[in-house]
Amino acid sequence: MHHDPARGDSPVKGLPGDGVNPIARAPARSLIHGASVPTSLSPQAPGSPLTGESPFTCSACGSGGIQIFYRVKDVPAHSCLMLSSREEALAFPRGEIALGFCKGCGFIGNMRFDPGLERYSAAYEETQAYSPRFLRFLDEVWEEQIARFGLGPGMTALEIGCGKGEFLVGLCERSGCGGIGVDPGYRPERTRSSAAQRLSFIRDLYGPKYAHLQADYVCCRHTLEHIAPVRDFVGLVRETIGERRHVNVFFELPDMERVLQQGAFWDIYYEHCSYFTRGSLARLFRAAGFDVHRLYKAYDDQYLMLEAQPAPGPTDALLPQESDLATISSLVARFERQVSERLQSLSDRLARHRARGHRLAIWGSGSKCVSLISSLALSPAGGPELAAVVDINPHKHGKFLAGSGLEIVSPEALRSLRPEVVLVMNSIYSDEIRHDLAARSLHPELIAL
Ligand SMILES: [Zn+2]
Repeated sequence: MHHDPARGDSPVKGLPGDGVNPIARAPARSLIHGASVPTSLSPQAPGSPLTGESPFTCSACGSGGIQIFYRVKDVPAHSCLMLSSREEALAFPRGEIALGFCKGCGFIGNMRFDPGLERYSAAYEETQAYSPRFLRFLDEVWEEQIARFGLGPGMTALEIGCGKGEFLVGLCERSGCGGIGVDPGYRPERTRSSAAQRLSFIRDLYGPKYAHLQADYVCCRHTLEHIAPVRDFVGLVRETIGERRHVNVFFELPDMERVLQQGAFWDIYYEHCSYFTRGSLARLFRAAGFDVHRLYKAYDDQYLMLEAQPAPGPTDALLPQESDLATISSLVARFERQVSERLQSLSDRLARHRARGHRLAIWGSGSKCVSLISSLALSPAGGPELAAVVDINPHKHGKFLAGSGLEIVSPEALRSLRPEVVLVMNSIYSDEIRHDLAARSLHPELIAL
């Protein structure tokens, strides 16, 4: 999902393949030699412009005091695009991550983000809707949003960045309202719905040319983190609503406070150029002319949720959860050390398995997986250690991961591979994964991130 108001008239991007940097190929390093450490952990090159205070301005509040605090070089520019050959996956464009922290508003963004590397298209496979755990969460969100905002027949919901449309379709089916979804990655053939006649989809990036779309409810889930000009984007959403002050707005995105606390380096990847905590998100919305009514975390505190309504201009802070600037600042200060420790302990643990000849499988082939493989320098499958990358989404099977060129296989493939250890990319799925494995008579050790 991606919606860049600065490039609102961009056509849907085609499949990757053009503009590939031939020297940016994945090094064929072997597994777990502690080879690849994020460059932020390496000594800094003299004269590097990315030391401490930087010349960058904050794309959320416009102020200058950006502090660069974490760097990773040579990361795949996309992690959810499905590539049909290993060659294409290995040759995929790479970029650089340099996370900057704004001392003014708390926003965190990749100061080295290059939108020219983006290739959002129908080959983008982000859906989590094959997971029962995730579907239960969606159920809760649907019920709560419909009840809180009285969504019903005669009303219209607009979803910016609707992906494959699951959330919007479910919302309309359950509430009786109509819906408009906007996303270049939407796939019409996947929508089978009793609400189909009340739904319309626009396969494009959201931008100024869609400012005429009118709705009673605007939602945007897991999209803002893919957008670099966040102030322009939230400003455009506010503009779209205009004088229609009854409109309710709901945003959902990853919570950066948890990532900072846990040193969860696999949650930082190129596709995510913007990172928010409760405070920075609320400040952005208030500056754009919204009253922020509710700010909370969900899904084991992995997600950040915001509910807002339009106001005539910038608004004052209403919620105590916003006051996180000092906390976030200290988490930022110790993040690099935190990551270093996490990386080391994970490398050590995997190395112990490797020494015992154990086969490793990774469960979950999304962005976290691409980021982790990149950080740990896990080698292409076929080696004795990393036996497979599995995913329950059938649309991913037989496709290849950008950067590493690893093939994604179905969980069924584990029956014959019989890994001794399975790395679970998101601990929230541990139970369903353990259950799935047991159903195939497999009882490997699970390492849950
Ligand atoms: Zn700022």
